[in-house]
Amino acid sequence: MPLQLTFVTSAKRHVDLPDSPGEVAFVGRSNVGKSSLINALANRRQLAKVSNTPGRTQLINMFTLPSGATVVDLPGYGYAAVPGRERATWQAMIEGYLLEREPLVLVFVLVDGEIGPTKLDLQMLAWMQANAVPYQIVATKLDKVKPSKLAGRRQQLAGACHLEEDDVLWVSASKGSGIDRLQGHVNAMLSV
Ligand code: GDP
Repeated sequence: MPLQLTFVTSAKRHVDLPDSPGEVAFVGRSNVGKSSLINALANRRQLAKVSNTPGRTQLINMFTLPSGATVVDLPGYGYAAVPGRERATWQAMIEGYLLEREPLVLVFVLVDGEIGPTKLDLQMLAWMQANAVPYQIVATKLDKVKPSKLAGRRQQLAGACHLEEDDVLWVSASKGSGIDRLQGHVNAMLSV
C-alpha cells in the first residue's frame, strides 16, 4: 500500500520541525535516488523533487501519514561541487537532527546498488554506529544491476557495510521492486 504522505514543512534546523509521535528519516548522497524512492513509496510523481542539480542548498523536508507519524527527507550529501562552508552547514544540520530529534525511530540510509557504498557513505555509517543512531541500509537502483551480477553485488555491498546480505533492502524506484516491502517496514516502524 502506498504511504499516504502529505507535505508538512521544510526547515533549516530540526528544532523548527513540529513534534511527532514517531518519525523515520531518509538520508543518502546526492543522486542516490532518494527523491525517486520517496515518490515511489507514496506512489506520487513529484512529492519529493527528482533533481538533476544536486548540491544546491537543501532543507529538511517533513511529511505526515494519516496516523500523524512523520517521514523526513534529509538533504543529500557528498556532491563534489559543494563548497566547504556549505558542507559544514549540511553536517551541522544533519548531525543535529540525527542526534537530537526525539521522535526519530529509524534512519533509512540509501546506498547506490549499482556502485556500492562510497567513502562518504561508509563515513556516515561509522558515525551513526558511533553515535548509536539506529539505521537500515537500502540499496537503490536494483534494475541497474545485471541479473548475472546480482548475487555477487548483494554480497559485496552488504560486506562493505559490515552486514549480512539479508540486512540490506534492495529496491528499484523505476521498476517498483522492493517498494511493498519497504512500505511495510516504514509502517511497522511507525505503528504508533
Ligand atoms: P536524489 O538526488 O537522491 O534525490 O536522487 P533522484 O531521485 O533525483 O535520482 C537521481 C537519478 O537517478 C535520476 O536521474 C533518477 O532518474 C535516477 N534513479 C533514481 N532511482 C532509480 C532507479 O530505481 N533506477 C534507475 N535506473 N534510475 C534511478
